[in-house]
Order: sequence, then structure tokens, then C-alpha cells
Amino acid sequence: MNTEIKKFRNFEITCHTVNTLVIGSGAASLNAAASLHSYGQKDLIIATSKWGGGTSNNAGSDKQTYYKLSLCGEHADSVAEMAKDLFSGHCMHGDIALCEAQGSVEAFMNLVRLGVPFPQDKYGGWAGYKTDNDPRSRATSAGPYTSKLMFQVLAGEVKRKRIKVLDRHQVIALLTDRSRSKAVGALAINMKTKDPLKAFVLVSCMNVILGTGGPAGIYETSVYPVSQSGSVGMAFKAGATGQNLGESQFGIASVKFRWNLSGSYQQAIPSYFSTEKNGRDKREFLNDSFPDFLSLTRAIFLKGNQWPFDPRKIKNHGSSLIDLLVFREITEKGRKVFLDYTRNPSILKGESFSFENLDRDVLDFLAKSEALKDTPLERLIALNSPAYFLYREHGIDLAREPLQIAVGVQHNNGGLKGNIWWESDLKHLFPVGEVNGSHGVYRPGGAALNSGQAGSLRAAKYINAKYNAPAPGPDDLIRESGEQIESKLIQAEMWLKSGKSSNNRLFLKKIRRRMSEAGGVIRSLEKAKTALAEAEEMMKYLPEKTGAGSVKELAEAFLLNDHCMTHLVYLDAIKTYIENGGRSRGSYLVTENENRLPDDLADHKWEPDLCRYDREIEKDILEIGFRNEGIVKKLMKVREIPVQDLWFEKVWKDFVQDNIYGC
Ligand SMILES: Cc1cc2nc3c(=O)[nH]c(=O)nc-3n(C[C@H](O)[C@H](O)[C@H](O)COP(=O)(O)OP(=O)(O)OC[C@H]3O[C@@H](n4cnc5c(N)ncnc54)[C@H](O)[C@@H]3O)c2cc1C
Repeated sequence: MNTEIKKFRNFEITCHTVNTLVIGSGAASLNAAASLHSYGQKDLIIATSKWGGGTSNNAGSDKQTYYKLSLCGEHADSVAEMAKDLFSGHCMHGDIALCEAQGSVEAFMNLVRLGVPFPQDKYGGWAGYKTDNDPRSRATSAGPYTSKLMFQVLAGEVKRKRIKVLDRHQVIALLTDRSRSKAVGALAINMKTKDPLKAFVLVSCMNVILGTGGPAGIYETSVYPVSQSGSVGMAFKAGATGQNLGESQFGIASVKFRWNLSGSYQQAIPSYFSTEKNGRDKREFLNDSFPDFLSLTRAIFLKGNQWPFDPRKIKNHGSSLIDLLVFREITEKGRKVFLDYTRNPSILKGESFSFENLDRDVLDFLAKSEALKDTPLERLIALNSPAYFLYREHGIDLAREPLQIAVGVQHNNGGLKGNIWWESDLKHLFPVGEVNGSHGVYRPGGAALNSGQAGSLRAAKYINAKYNAPAPGPDDLIRESGEQIESKLIQAEMWLKSGKSSNNRLFLKKIRRRMSEAGGVIRSLEKAKTALAEAEEMMKYLPEKTGAGSVKELAEAFLLNDHCMTHLVYLDAIKTYIENGGRSRGSYLVTENENRLPDDLADHKWEPDLCRYDREIEKDILEIGFRNEGIVKKLMKVREIPVQDLWFEKVWKDFVQDNIYGC
């Protein structure tokens, strides 16, 4: 890597020249960086807004899941079967599903080798369990902190390999060549610098690996950790295309300390109650919508393995009825909702909690897990004591206080589109991890972490084999993308001159509220249209009204504008889907054809209008991008799973001759 200082307008800019810039330090970015280094390309740097920030190092659940090919005795499995299961989630390209299935063993074993403690029996068997949308037992877990453990071992690997990390560097723009066909660099702000005129950092590179995670910063009600913001807006601005953007997962989570409440947290069968904002009028509101104790406790229990809200699971007192009732209690009635682990769900229509009143499967599960205990807390500890202690570590004792919850956004199945080497349509840009929208409508729990690892390995392989030339220096970069750099510097000058950042928080709040209201779990055309019009308006006035008085505020101002761009593109995708007849699916309910939700959500006569994949907008993948200051959209046919020619001699020859890097 070469480093030099260049003068540009009034700024003294630090310029690095490197083959590959890796943006972000989540599990996907770190794996990409460490793998690239192992394959032989050592000319790389990582730029990250916060080392240890992001989702991987700060999020989890009762037993955070990693999805991979089944690798233990009694579960027959194959790459083809796993690819089919990923593909069956709808709107996922078959070749990507195949790569994720094929890459899962290599990626998983890499983590094992690096030290993630995935459990094995004494014969070396990788025991598995079933997760949501998983017909086999492909899931494994290293406990509540699987992705944190992944971050730790991968961070260790990056340190061991002495890969240079530019910490507290927020990338604010991806730079392209003049024809806007490929990524050639990036502009960042070094937030450790005090002087704004010396804070800009320019990276000239052959390749950008983008691992900036999910679009957490645009939502108000969220399970994403506070340290994750995402910044996919700059990729849209540079010309990369998004796909399946409307497909996010929503579910029940704690709000004081954001954490996913799946698995044991529900299998322990806590009681749900709500209060007015001031804490008065405590009510077990679920009781109004369930006919008996058995169906109520079964729905709570099932929420454990059916965590994301799913409109197919509302009817007949399904587990997703609970998400809707919680959502309604909070957003429509303005109440607060809590889980109480000190008390069982109380009397319902004359029945009280007793093991005889439980569904047979529920009883069986608790008995086998040696968790037939008197209170939800005792059951939780018997099922999974780390799940209890992690709240204690975050200052919440479930033995003493109820846990406030909401239905929050956790993961975006969509994101930037990539080919089978995870390269976007903006060449030399490789979105990896959550920012790569490889998933379709449904995905098995744990497939996000697998995709991040399998995809980042493939990106590293491709770069090492095909894009390994040294990058041109900063003068060439400035010649190629000087206008793009200059426009950011002019913007910075303008914001610094105004000095005022007081409005920034207010605008951010507006973006987040708008997204949670129009792009959340309950959607309608009217809401999406209004929100989109507001977002378009905001795109026009925001650059003028943003301000900054310091380097930190300058970085925040760029991020705010990035979020504005992101929410504009996401809202357009959501509106377009509904406007063209898209119905409820994935993790949201489209109320278009019901006008409004019925008062009684448990009414057996009410049928959510479910997606049947018989309309273009439902069958195809909605691609959306930003070109010449406007949104462009198209529907893309789903590519089938390719038929492989695995004749060994042929594969061997292609491999040796480097002929495998086509698309
Ligand atoms: C509560 C919760 C539970 C989950 N449970 C599961 C599960 O059980 N199984 C599963 O498979 N998935 C799960 N997920 C999803 C999964 O954890 C994430 O998709 C995954 O960790 C994302 O990893 P990543 O490397 O893509 O991004 P992240 O880990 O989010 O990292 C993003 C990085 O980018 C950096 N960054 C962002 N913008 C910039 C910028 N402009 N410049 C520089 N750096 C930047 C951040 O600082 C961070 O380092 C869960 C998610 C949540 C929130």
C-alpha cells in the first residue's frame, strides 16, 4: 500500500493506493479480508466506521443460528438438496442458492478451524437442529453469541495476518470511473482527526469489498444493535443495483437492550401483558384473542422456532397472531408491551396454567429438555441458562423485572445484487454479508451468516484470481473521478460553513419513523405512496438543511444523507410491489385488499390475502437502482438452479486452466 498527501480545494487529503479496499469489520468483511490474504493478495486495507461495531459483534438471540449442510450421522443431506431448499424461499436466483449451499461446508469448517466453538459429540458429529424454513436439521449454534464469536476469531485472524485497519473511518462515497461502469476507489472521513480540512481520506483501488451490513439506521423500531447503521445509499449513488429490497424480517425483540426473543425465550412460555404508557391498567391482552389455554401456550411456544412474523402463520391462532397483537397494542393503542418471566400466563376462560393443559408437543419438548418447571424463568434457565445471564450482563434481571418488547426489524433479505462471485453490476464492487441481497422472500434461520461467509470467500477467490493487478495512484483516480470527489468536498465546505447540526437528529428521526410506519410489518399502498413522496421531497431539501460543526458531525451529516437516499430507494421498492398487485408474504402484511385490518384478528372468517406467486411482481425479482438522479426499476426473471457438469476430468481441467471464473 502506498500513502501520500494531496491537496484538493482547501483540503489536505491522505491518499492510499491498494489492490483491495474492504469496507466494514463485520463477519463478512473480516472473512473476505483474511481469505484474500490467505489466497495470496496481501495488498489490502480495511476501513471501518467502528472496529467492533456492526451487527455481527453485537447481536444474537437465545441460540444464534448458523445454517450449513447437515454434517452428522442420521441426517442425509446433499448440496443439491440444500440449494433446492434455499431456492424454494422464492425470488432467489438458483445459481446463488447453489453457491451458498456448495460453499457452506468450506465456510463452516473455516470458522471451526479458527476456533468458533460449534458443538460436536464425542465422535466428532456436528449435531444440528431445525430452524425456521428448514426441512432438515441443518442449523447449528455456538450459543447466544454465535456471530460475536465469529467476529472474534476472524478479527484475530486479521490481526495475525497484520492486515492494516483504518479504524473510525467512515466511507462516504464509492468512486467510479467516468463511464460509471466500475468502482475505482472510495472517499472516507477519518473520525479520529480533529481538523475537518485534514480529515478526508481517499483510497484508489482495483476492488472494493463492501461489507457495511443491513440498513439498520433507517428504522425506528429495530432489533439491530445501536452500533449498526448501514450505508448502502452510497452504493446506489455509485450505480449499483438493489434487489428484493422490500423483503425484511420483523419479529419480537426487547427494546431497552435490543435482542431477538426467539427460541428458548418463547419456549419457556412467559406471560405477555401490556400497560398504558404510565404503567397503569395492566392486561394480559393475548387472552382476548385465544379461545383456550392450549392454543395460547402453543402459539407462544411456536414463536420460538417461528420467530419472524409470517402472514401464513396468523390463521387458526398461529404463532404470528402474537406479533400482530403486540404490534397493534403498541402502534394502534399506544400501550407498552412486556414479557414476564416470573409468572405463567394467567387464567383464560376458567383454565389456569398447568402441564395437563399444554399441547402434547410442547409438553414433550419441555419434558425431554428437563424443563418441566413451575415458572417461565425456571424453564428458561433449564432450557438455556446463557439466555438468562446475557440479560443480566446487560443490566436486566428477568427474575425481577418484566422485559419491554416490540415488533422490530432485524434483517434485510434483499440488498445489492451480485453475481455468483458476489460482484455487483457495478464492476469491481463486491457486496458481501447482509448488504448483498442474495436471499429471496423466505430464508432458513441462520442462512444470513452462511451467506456472508460463503459469499465473502467467493469474492476473495475471484479477486485473487482475476482482479489482482496493482491499482493506479491517486492522480489517476482524481483524473477519473475528480468531479465525484469535488462534489463531496463542496458539500462538506457548505455544511461546515453553516456550522449547524441541530436539525440533523430531527431529520434522522423523521426518516426512521417513516420507514417503520410505511416499510414495517403492516403495509399499504396509501402509506407507501405518502412516505415515498415525503422521502422524495426530503432528498431535495436535506443537503441544504444539513450542517456540521466538527469532523464527527460531518461524518454524521454524510450518513444522514446516505440514509435519506437508502430510504427513498427502499420505499420505492415497497410501493412498486404493492402498486403492481403484490400481496402479503415474507414478513409483512399488505392490507390493500382488506382496507383495514379486522378488529378481531383471530376471527376465523378473516383470510390474509396471501401472495400466490402467480403475478409477475410476485414471481420475479424487483431490481431497483439510481441512475442520472432518478430511480430505475425492472423485473428480473428468477434464474433456475443450474445443472452442473461434475465430470471430474472436465472440472479438473477447467480448474487447472483457471476457466471457472465465468458467470
Ligand atoms: C438480533 C439479531 C439476531 C440475528 N440472528 C441471526 C441468526 O440467528 N442467524 C443468522 O444467520 N443471522 C442472524 N442475524 C443476522 C446476522 O447477524 C447479520 O446479517 C450479520 O451479522 C451481518 O454481518 P455483516 O458482516 O454483513 O455486517 P455487520 O456485522 O453489520 O458489519 C457491518 C460493518 O460495516 C461497518 N460500516 C457500516 N457502514 C460503514 C461505512 N460507511 N464506512 C465504514 N464502515 C461501515 C460497521 O461499522 C460494521 O463494522 C441476526 C441479526 C440480528 C440483528
